[in-house]
Amino acid sequence: MTHGKSNRFLLLYASQTGQAKAIAEEVAEKAVKHGLRPDLNCVSNTEKKFWLERESCTVLVSSTTGEGDPPDTALKFWKRLKKKTLPDDHLGHLNYILLGLGDSNYTNFCNFPKNVDQRLTELGAKKIIPSTFADDAVGLEVAVEPWMDDQIFPALRKHLGLSNDQTSDGNSLADSDPEASSVVDPDHMQDTLNNRSVTQDVHENGSSMPDGDNTVTNAESMDNQPVIESSGNDTQTILDDAEESDAKSKVIIEANQTEPCTSELQLENEDVEENLVRSLPPLSECSLNIPACPPRFLSLKYDQDIQLNVKSLPIQNNYPFPSAKTDIQRVTIASAEVLTGCDALKTALKLTLDISSTGWRYEPGDSFSIVCVNPDHEVDQLLNRLEVFEYADCLCEISVIEETKKRNAAIPAYLGENGTLRYWLRTTLDIRSVPKKAFLRALVEHTTDPGEKRRLQELCSKQGADHYARFLRQPNLGLIDVLLNFSSCKPPIALLLEHLPRLLPRSYSSTSCFEVKPGWLDFVFNIIEIPAGSGRVEAKQGICTGMLSSLCKPLLQSTCTNVSELTEHVKTLSLKEPIQIPVFLRGNQSFHPPADLSIPLIMIGPGTGVAPFIGFLQQRELSLQSVSDRGSVGETWLFFGCRHKDRDFIFRNELESFAEKKVLSHLEVCFSRESPEGCGPRYVQDNLLLHSTDVVTLILENSAEVFVCGDANNMAKDVKQAFVKAIETEKGLSAKEAEAAVFDMLMNRRYHEDVWS
Ligand code: NAP
Repeated sequence: MTHGKSNRFLLLYASQTGQAKAIAEEVAEKAVKHGLRPDLNCVSNTEKKFWLERESCTVLVSSTTGEGDPPDTALKFWKRLKKKTLPDDHLGHLNYILLGLGDSNYTNFCNFPKNVDQRLTELGAKKIIPSTFADDAVGLEVAVEPWMDDQIFPALRKHLGLSNDQTSDGNSLADSDPEASSVVDPDHMQDTLNNRSVTQDVHENGSSMPDGDNTVTNAESMDNQPVIESSGNDTQTILDDAEESDAKSKVIIEANQTEPCTSELQLENEDVEENLVRSLPPLSECSLNIPACPPRFLSLKYDQDIQLNVKSLPIQNNYPFPSAKTDIQRVTIASAEVLTGCDALKTALKLTLDISSTGWRYEPGDSFSIVCVNPDHEVDQLLNRLEVFEYADCLCEISVIEETKKRNAAIPAYLGENGTLRYWLRTTLDIRSVPKKAFLRALVEHTTDPGEKRRLQELCSKQGADHYARFLRQPNLGLIDVLLNFSSCKPPIALLLEHLPRLLPRSYSSTSCFEVKPGWLDFVFNIIEIPAGSGRVEAKQGICTGMLSSLCKPLLQSTCTNVSELTEHVKTLSLKEPIQIPVFLRGNQSFHPPADLSIPLIMIGPGTGVAPFIGFLQQRELSLQSVSDRGSVGETWLFFGCRHKDRDFIFRNELESFAEKKVLSHLEVCFSRESPEGCGPRYVQDNLLLHSTDVVTLILENSAEVFVCGDANNMAKDVKQAFVKAIETEKGLSAKEAEAAVFDMLMNRRYHEDVWS
């Protein structure tokens, strides 16, 4: 029996892409094991399902979007919270814990959760522990794991007046926590027979019952062999999963390998280096703290008599996409053009979409999203590897395992109940995403080779955090890479549906101006090439840019000696057989040039970052037609950078023509791989510093607006630093004062960024 409200707390999430929600769900799972009663809610349910004014203890997990903005789901919540009329003690009774998620590659890191934190404090709420802000640039897990594993539950229990070794009904907390993290101790090898794993089932009351004969349990032997049952009407039903095994938690005691496994023998005489599949002492020899195995919750049933027409299925079960301003429409790719030379390091393509049937309008600087699909080859690879190819296209029904231990278990809304395995893997699940540690932990249970099992345990353990970052997250490896490297790992396919995140659309800036080209939308992108190596067995292309380039294959396969001829060729092709892609326009956008033409513009966009500025300049050219006094018009500067003048100077003709017509007062271009070291500017920020006198006068005296578009990882930061440096030098200010001046521009929305990592 629980004690009325004493162990209850409100658990809120403000999610844009599902990360904050997933973390809040994990908090909910773990809270119960800590004897707590979470009341889980999306912040959008404010004043419908919860009232902050009535709460005394709240945990909030919130993500950040755009330039530090609230997720779409948090707009109403935030509007109410920031009402100026609220008294200072409005939330005086509230105690809270806050976890913010953000990405420091973007301006205003965790701005929204930080604002919420500040506002809660202003309204009298008290922090139970200091707020935590996790950074996706270094891996959210770096901050989230210690927060989840060590901080919140002891703090919550203490705050709620529960002792940290007893549940609210007086039982021992250890007893109530059957799935707490396990310790994997290699020194327990004496307990094992013939170097095999011993699996112990830990019963709910905490007593442990060693598995009689030390053999692999049912769970491990059954999981990859679907049970074939007759449904009684000649339809074969295959039940995936061994639910029973997953309802129980396990402490695994792994043997130290007394004999080297095959890969070790191969490596015996080579220089041994750590990599994805191999560790060295001390990690390979230490005891490991591994997370509890996430409970299984989905079960699949196939009907091989029914081949589903997946074309009739709504895209991702009609579950809304984040940031969508419009519905999804299929539009025709009217033309494709290669913008770079054959010898360019990257191939840039410009595509023109015919959006005349959609009724959409867009502003220069707006972006839109393309709903992409995973490459067929990779989907086939997974289906084959998991031995479910024969069920790939028949009707598959998902249900929640009735006796699952997962709280609030539900079929992910974007999957829907009915589909096919191929359909979900191709269109709905992000099969390329880096497997989370919980997923790796679940994979351990489906891996038979002891060496591979141990390595997967290491990668999801506390002790192996650095290896997880180095060998999985940094090289951006996905599930296929893991499966190809760990050959004895064969998870049931339902595990993928439980753990793989949703495949999200990819966004691109419009390159054109709607007023100049009504009914058309141009955009540009580099085809992303991802080489093999660092654990990646095969080279790949980016999911969306790869999909687009293969749709326009006739163009790309031809020798690109005469670009215009090839463009015409694709035009003819697309007329015969329209190539269509599903797209939608994005909302909440602010990367727009000021309507007032007297405001000077400084635009910085190396590589494809120049995309939105073509639209800016097209619009400006149009607007200038109705201006009689050109003297009143502000200056326009564009800093563009690429590698070589003759290979990747994209939009060269357009930019030079804008400069000739004085739509662009200053076109400053630099080539990063042409000038010998030390001669001339290499990058846009070097060029900016060469013109620091003009630039600083424009921003500090003529109220110029700055627009930066392109790479978030390095360029955007370096450019901001260059502005600081320029102000420092030109005005004789200290670095701090110069930083404050740039910060002021950011706050006053005179320094805009549209950066992508
Ligand atoms: P890129 O070809 O990789 O690079 C363009 C130029 O930038 C090269 O000369 C490169 O020099 C240089 N560069 C490298 N590091 C730099 C730094 N720290 N500061 C300044 N310049 C630097 O560019 P890209 O692939 O087109 O990338 C542009 C970025 O814009 C991508 O992140 C893309 O996602 C983003 N973006 C795309 C769109 C779109 O709609 N497609 C819109 C907005 C933004 P070296 O290689 O010689 O070092």
